Amino acid sequence: MTLVVDKFRSLLPPRAKHSPSGWTSFNAPCCGHRGHKADTRKRGGIRFDGDGVVYNCFNCKFSTGWQPGSPLGEKMKTLARWMGAGEDLIKEMVFEALKTESADYTPEAHEPTLQFTDKELPEGAMPLMDWVNSEYWKDIAPEVEPVIAYVVSRGYDPFDGNYHWSPAPGYESRVIIPFMWEGRVVGNTARKVTNGKPKYLSDQHPNFVFNFDKQTEDQKYIFVCEGPFDALSVGGVALLTNEIAEQQARIINSLGAEVIVIPDQDSAGLVLFDRAAELNWSVAMPTWDEDVKDVADAVLRYGKLFVIVDAIKTAQKGPIKISIAKKQQEHKLELRKDD
Ligand SMILES: [Zn+2]
Repeated sequence: MTLVVDKFRSLLPPRAKHSPSGWTSFNAPCCGHRGHKADTRKRGGIRFDGDGVVYNCFNCKFSTGWQPGSPLGEKMKTLARWMGAGEDLIKEMVFEALKTESADYTPEAHEPTLQFTDKELPEGAMPLMDWVNSEYWKDIAPEVEPVIAYVVSRGYDPFDGNYHWSPAPGYESRVIIPFMWEGRVVGNTARKVTNGKPKYLSDQHPNFVFNFDKQTEDQKYIFVCEGPFDALSVGGVALLTNEIAEQQARIINSLGAEVIVIPDQDSAGLVLFDRAAELNWSVAMPTWDEDVKDVADAVLRYGKLFVIVDAIKTAQKGPIKISIAKKQQEHKLELRKDD
């Protein structure tokens, strides 16, 4: 596969459906831009054809492609943009296409970019319910009970299968949350349920988007939070950091939903404002009380419905509105420090 195709392939939504015919189907990004109703039936098709690629929309009939030995056409560039490519990526594709026009070009093999490989959970990890039902329960109860109590105190159901425990050294007083991707475990984070550091022990791929597996194609909004508990509490996704990597943005955009970032109410969360503006995402300006620092705390105090409605109602979009919102946020945080 050529680098052009390799880079183009990285734009494919993670939920694209591969079929034996060789077509990879996903919701066509073209239709809405061409005056047609947005596609929700995966009628956009890509076929990797030799070292090149063809795209065909079986809805609005937009089609384009690229073959080695030729420049990257305008329609391919447009399609790449619709699929979420930034100008940097387009430039790289143009440059790689140019290289294939040279006489001494030989194709190279490359791994596709969007791949989260399997990772093991900490040794012996099992869902909390399985531990309660295990023959070891009497022996481990003193260690596992505080973990169960912690999950309950955060407002979650400890037995819904999301929460694991492992007797492995260093994990005894932690609740483990597996990171899932396409039904596979690709990492985890283990949060300490007692005081002590580190608060989180994590094993994760860079640019992973937590809880993306639980999003559905028909949802109107996708809520982007910082931590895994935040994401679980509103059914959103978590960046696992306060930055948004390009690959994370692409994954989140691939759902085609309106993106609302709900930052933590601290100075670290301010970083998200500029990046959200750049990505044309919205930023929520929650009306929570001062002592509520993040989504998970807010849901615990006000309930999920309030937090979601509040986020939608207060969401700011566009560079000007977001820069004003950021100034207000800075001011608010400044006032709190003075208290
Ligand atoms: Zn189309």
